[in-house]
Amino acid sequence: MRPEEPLGGLAEGQKNTFNVPELRLSGPIEIGMRVILAQPRGFCAGVVRAIEIVERALQAFGPPVYVRHEIVHNRHVVESLKAKGARFVEELSEVPAGAVTIFSAHGVARAVEEDAKRRGLNVIDATCPLVSKVHNQANRYVRDARELVLIGHAGHPEVEGTKGRIPVPVHLVQTEADVAKLDIPRDTPIAYVTQTTLSVDDTRGIIAALELKFSDVVGPDTRDICYATQNRQSAVRELCKLVDVLLVVGASNSSNSNRLREIGADSGIPSYLIADGSELQPEWVQGAQTVGITAGASAPETLVENVIDALAQLGKVDISTMAGRIEDIEFKLPAALADWNPSKVATA
Ligand code: SF4
Repeated sequence: MRPEEPLGGLAEGQKNTFNVPELRLSGPIEIGMRVILAQPRGFCAGVVRAIEIVERALQAFGPPVYVRHEIVHNRHVVESLKAKGARFVEELSEVPAGAVTIFSAHGVARAVEEDAKRRGLNVIDATCPLVSKVHNQANRYVRDARELVLIGHAGHPEVEGTKGRIPVPVHLVQTEADVAKLDIPRDTPIAYVTQTTLSVDDTRGIIAALELKFSDVVGPDTRDICYATQNRQSAVRELCKLVDVLLVVGASNSSNSNRLREIGADSGIPSYLIADGSELQPEWVQGAQTVGITAGASAPETLVENVIDALAQLGKVDISTMAGRIEDIEFKLPAALADWNPSKVATA
């Protein structure tokens, strides 16, 4: 079963390369269920770039190539790259000297870069350019002698990476209550930056709390936040006005996918985070006339199709895509891979 409209993200005739499981569902038959797909949804430009970096590195250097941390938070993507020869590690000590090593889209601390240099690793950095932009902005604020507040989730690899790029201690806040606990004099110049998987709407309350508590607060222009996070969240809010149930395709450790599910729940409709169609519980959609589907920025379109197939096993589905923003943002590859020409290797 395929939607009538082009889904974007999966070219016509393109094969499913993300290890999507075979479906074996049984359950009540829903007659004439409408399925509305969010627009936009799924892969962002940073994730597309990170996956392409690993694939090109495998072709250019041959397997294995080592990837520090999951390149993006999606098991299907990781398994697919593993099958092609990528080896995922958490620590650089697991990488043999001189090996090709890729840093994930989430970014890394400066200490990790220095460790890689000491070990003589051949590093390719897949840090999303929007994450790098946050690093640069944060360092500019520190150079301007401002105390830096980072709005984000403790322990998330992007947050750990950002903290590790700043040469001074950073105040991590996750909630407005955390702002109240900051023990900094009121007239201290403050600057904030945010984890990219938080949207303007997510951080509005925390920023307001900072502006209330301190007399001199600056932060990035809202145009500098991650377009993909904002667009997916705005789309899902609109989608929730049209549907009875929301399915968010994404991994349980994907911050932006979890946030999409929370937005659905906050809108008052049953909302489920689902890795692929095999996790669909028929009772979730029983009696629903309209089911909405979106996908986190690290979820491939093949998994959305897999969930549609799972719904179609329950009965007839009528698929459409909501009107929404069409994204055409692309990020350049690192120079070493952008200039690499596969045809030259093939004829060498
Ligand atoms: S969600 Fe935004 S910041 Fe994160 S990888 Fe995608 S484009 Fe980059």
